[in-house]
Amino acid sequence: MTALQHPARVAIIGGGPAGLMAAEIVRAAGHTVDLYEAKGSPGRKFLIAGKGGLNLTHSDPPALFVSRYRERADAVGTWLTDFDAEALRAWALQFGVETYVGTSGRVFPVDRKAAPLLRGWVRRLKDQGVRFHVQHRWTGWTADGALRLETPEGEVSVAADAVVLALGGGSWPELGSDGAWVAPLQARGVDIAPLKPANCGFDIDWTAYFRERQAGAPLKPVVAHWTGLDGTAHSLQGECVITANGIEGSLIYALAADLRDTLERDGQVQLQLDLLPGQTEAQLLDKLRKPRQGRSFGEHLRRQLGLGGVKSALLFEVLGKEAGQLPAEAVAAALKRLPLSLLRPRPIDEVISTAGGVRLEALNEALMLRDLPGTFCAGEMLDWEAPTGGYLLTACYASGVRAGRGVVAFLER
Ligand SMILES: Cc1cc2nc3c(=O)[nH]c(=O)nc-3n(C[C@H](O)[C@H](O)[C@H](O)COP(=O)(O)OP(=O)(O)OC[C@H]3O[C@@H](n4cnc5c(N)ncnc54)[C@H](O)[C@@H]3O)c2cc1C
Repeated sequence: MTALQHPARVAIIGGGPAGLMAAEIVRAAGHTVDLYEAKGSPGRKFLIAGKGGLNLTHSDPPALFVSRYRERADAVGTWLTDFDAEALRAWALQFGVETYVGTSGRVFPVDRKAAPLLRGWVRRLKDQGVRFHVQHRWTGWTADGALRLETPEGEVSVAADAVVLALGGGSWPELGSDGAWVAPLQARGVDIAPLKPANCGFDIDWTAYFRERQAGAPLKPVVAHWTGLDGTAHSLQGECVITANGIEGSLIYALAADLRDTLERDGQVQLQLDLLPGQTEAQLLDKLRKPRQGRSFGEHLRRQLGLGGVKSALLFEVLGKEAGQLPAEAVAAALKRLPLSLLRPRPIDEVISTAGGVRLEALNEALMLRDLPGTFCAGEMLDWEAPTGGYLLTACYASGVRAGRGVVAFLER
């Protein structure tokens, strides 16, 4: 760590990966760092991510990796030049956390846990002199520009030479990131895109019969067909899960941004599922036309096509009880493109991440708010989004590095 004659006082607000990373960079430059966290301990959402194995990053080649950030690929791409997937894996190794590339290309710690990494990280930051203040909730600024913090002992105000806001998105509010930061920032004129659910499931109006029997059933493999906002047709193979309210799972999360935005624009959106990706429509037609020999239609589907369980139930749910009376052509077509009308995304509270946030145009390259010099923002609270696959955490880390370096450069001016 650099020894500075006149270290500045830097406040980092939010103890998620973005805030912790900014704290690491700023402290390494020798400044005094106070980290304020609303909850009783930092990194609660990071720990929850560990329940799914902690998908830290992805092994995509760089150009493909960056394209995952959609409209914000250019901006996030510049943060990744500071800290990319390889840097993240090397960083984790400093804590003895080895990573591996799973079959899907996703990168996980070998033990698939978040707690050892978080524990090691917080311990090292404390050893380096970062001062942690938990149960300190930032609520805005005092009239003279100090930070207002709610603590168990009442409100305190803190002056700082530079501030990093790393307050997270708006999902899973019980873990601390509740989006309550929108109001104080908007009051200071910061341009914020509305928070929206990302990596979310969607509601579908299932019949009670289907819901009661199939909620929780995994649907795999299937191919989803959908149309992007620009009218381009897309297809993706993967897995999803029927829920009591509709549908969710990794395949749906990957399309969620397009589906959500189309719903918002058109008031409706349709997803089409290929229930039998291994067989062509012509093959299905041949098999469907074979004599039933007195068997029920469901049994005919099972014997001829190998279609059973939730896939068969879903076909009947969409085509109705009369499915067996329909021409074979109609059934084959439905099996290849079963239309599902999505009603709405799931509520923001329960989704994996949020889109929207502080618009990148409100920030300079160093992630400092143009209208609030000395105040930087990082992490999911910024207006970018990405599918699951480790892209979320990687961008949070990278933006934490970018903001941390921005603070250091700002203080050196
Ligand atoms: C169930 C689940 C699983 C996930 N799995 C993965 C995964 O495997 N891979 C992946 O890449 N991503 C995953 N994510 C997403 C990832 O965890 C987040 O994108 C990431 O944690 C965001 O980091 P952040 O630092 O921006 O914000 P957060 O991690 O949300 O941290 C923000 C911190 O700020 C604190 N805070 C908020 N407001 C205030 C305030 N006013 N004052 C003080 N402190 C405040 C919060 O308490 C919180 O600790 C998952 C998310 C969920 C919900």
